[in-house]
Amino acid sequence: MSNHRKVTVLGAGLAGMSSAAELARSAVDVTVLERDPVVGGLAKSLHRNGYTVDLGPHRFHGEPGVVQHFHDLMGENLVENKRKSRIWMMNRFFFYPLRVENVLMQLPRTILLKILVDYVTARVRQRLNPKPDNSFEDWVTHRFGKTLYTIFFDVYTEKTWGLPCKQISSDWASQRISLLSLGDVIKKTLQPKQKPQPRTYVSSFSYPKHGGVGAICGRYREQVEGSGGKVVTGVRLEKVKTDGKRVTSIAYQNGDLREVDTPGHVISSIPPQALLDLLDPAPPAEILAHAAKLQHRSLVFVYVVLKKECLTDDHWIYIPEKSRLLNRISEAKNFSHDNAPEGHTAVCAEITCILGDEIWSADDQWLGERVITELADMGFMKKKDAVDTFVHREPQGYPVYEIGYREHLKALQEHLGSYENLLVIGRQGLFRYNNMDHSVTMGQRAAHTVLGRIEDFQGVAASGDYFD
Ligand SMILES: Cc1cc2nc3c(=O)[nH]c(=O)nc-3n(C[C@H](O)[C@H](O)[C@H](O)COP(=O)(O)OP(=O)(O)OC[C@H]3O[C@@H](n4cnc5c(N)ncnc54)[C@H](O)[C@@H]3O)c2cc1C
Repeated sequence: MSNHRKVTVLGAGLAGMSSAAELARSAVDVTVLERDPVVGGLAKSLHRNGYTVDLGPHRFHGEPGVVQHFHDLMGENLVENKRKSRIWMMNRFFFYPLRVENVLMQLPRTILLKILVDYVTARVRQRLNPKPDNSFEDWVTHRFGKTLYTIFFDVYTEKTWGLPCKQISSDWASQRISLLSLGDVIKKTLQPKQKPQPRTYVSSFSYPKHGGVGAICGRYREQVEGSGGKVVTGVRLEKVKTDGKRVTSIAYQNGDLREVDTPGHVISSIPPQALLDLLDPAPPAEILAHAAKLQHRSLVFVYVVLKKECLTDDHWIYIPEKSRLLNRISEAKNFSHDNAPEGHTAVCAEITCILGDEIWSADDQWLGERVITELADMGFMKKKDAVDTFVHREPQGYPVYEIGYREHLKALQEHLGSYENLLVIGRQGLFRYNNMDHSVTMGQRAAHTVLGRIEDFQGVAASGDYFD
């Protein structure tokens, strides 16, 4: 690729910022354009009245190379954690990742027996008369049987995705979700020789001592700006002009100023739908129709500040039951003590919803009270311990893998891939349910590609088996 000395990066999450830092290091004239007032994207941190909180639990892990990069980047600003995470359901705790003895002790014998019978029946049926995995439901029931599916997968998945499991692609299951490891554990009990899947079982991790997980993008920002690059936050992108083959300019509103960049290359980590909407001339109507079929699940984060040293000693706790609005709680203080003052803690409750629905639009005070009521109801806290609440909303939390999404995604990607100086990366950009380390690796590889060392940046996290 040519003319690589001037690059505009869209989106200041880990993918965008890691690519910008890599380019800035090679003396490329790089500008990052971000809609939010701060950098970090989904891995940002919020700072309020002496508390630092993240958007749900964030632990960095991955291949040794990217973990080493993380350590080099953060230097002394790291603390080590021994992960503790659990599942709360049926009024009791299950360790996560699950421990066989804990599951056996917690579940009634009748249920365990039914799980076993259904599991064996499902395996025998699949062996004698294999059926295709068309949906998430098929994938789980074919492997684990109906009882396990109904108790542990069905409710949690529908609650998280807001879709019946029959409509969710089996990609979601094959790329693993949290509660699938319950199946893994039971399967491991039944098939002791089965190899464990390492990622879910990573038991220790490093985390920024100061500044929350957002300190990672903060470091990238220092590197970019220290090398003469620009990181412009709070912008409104207006147009991405093309000549049909290449992006020729990017217009954006920066406060009162209307600015125009004319980069040699563009690296985009913003959602493909947003990018298509910005293209001038506009893409064909059929491409826009495909884009409209790809949906994101939105996230509402409700933070409850407590006059209490900590709520629990867990990093996070899944709450799969349908009767609860919450999906998961986490406590930033358990990641680093610096995240909250002595004698106080802030708990983050995640709620999934659809952009603009009644949860998304709910009043902040109502959300705070609802979360406090649920936490008190489950016995985690007393209502009187809560001293403050605040709310943060993210429109694009999870890409929804509804059956058929691949066809729509392929059409968009082919269109965006036809612009020879445009590189699309990241969780939003690629509509891929990936982790922080993947976004960092994609960003770095995209930067190397711009610099002429072609690397497969879109191939990162393209196969299954990597989720928490
Ligand atoms: C609740 C939760 C918990 C998670 N926990 C973990 C974990 O424990 N470990 C882990 O490894 N990963 C975790 N992840 C995943 C991790 O957060 C993401 O993989 C990673 O942060 C994605 O980085 P990204 O740069 O690819 O995308 P993003 O962070 O989404 O960055 C995209 C950026 O583009 C910006 N943008 C969007 N539209 C526009 C526009 N029109 N104009 C300008 N800018 C725009 C956004 O504001 C954002 O800053 C978690 C994710 C969630 C939601």
